[in-house]
Amino acid sequence: MKLILLGAPGAGKGTVAKMLTAIDGSVQISTGDILRGAVQAGTDLGKEAQGYMDRGDLVPDSLIMGIMENRLQEDDCQKGFLLDGFPRTIPQAEALTELLSKLDIKLDMAVDIEVPRDVILDRLCTRRTCENGDCQLIYNVKSNPPKKEGICDKCGSAVIQRADETEEAISHRLETYNEKTAPLIGFYTKAGLTKTVTGTSSDAVVAAIKESLSL
Ligand code: AMP
Repeated sequence: MKLILLGAPGAGKGTVAKMLTAIDGSVQISTGDILRGAVQAGTDLGKEAQGYMDRGDLVPDSLIMGIMENRLQEDDCQKGFLLDGFPRTIPQAEALTELLSKLDIKLDMAVDIEVPRDVILDRLCTRRTCENGDCQLIYNVKSNPPKKEGICDKCGSAVIQRADETEEAISHRLETYNEKTAPLIGFYTKAGLTKTVTGTSSDAVVAAIKESLSL
């Protein structure tokens, strides 16, 4: 499947993407994970992106498009992909349309995952992430804590609160979402691709996507 996952930070895009990869081997492409990996590895990309990320601002479109142009042409994407956190602006969406047409790839759907704001705020404040750039497994201190406090079940690295998941950065990220990313719902509706799914359960979101794609 070839999907875009839209939705505010904390809507569950990453969780849903991971669940969908198990269905047909489509790969999750999270620009946030790629950028955090680059920051941790200290690459030029990471150095350029870090300030924006820590403040909860968007990284410039040109950097993101450079990442995506390479990523979408890798072999593992040929079966399908779940775009998680990309596109985030209208210029990114326009550039993606052009890139997909150049690569002769057709999107199935843009899924808009809608979750109430109070649920999102609670989720982001209690979310913890494995700091290992190659793992980045997500936990929640209330609903899904690691077995050993502060240690990732999967790779043994430290489980931390992200720098952009303080209350101040979260509220800035949500404002940025409303201003820059929410207009993409209209963009993909015009293209006849939007499917809105409302709900706080990732299982229900995945079931609705499967039904829409007749899987
Ligand atoms: P995420 O993990 O998707 O919430 O992304 C974390 C941070 O990475 C965002 O707050 C942005 O600073 C940056 N980022 C991720 N994806 C994008 C994108 N498509 N465009 C611009 N910035 C992005």
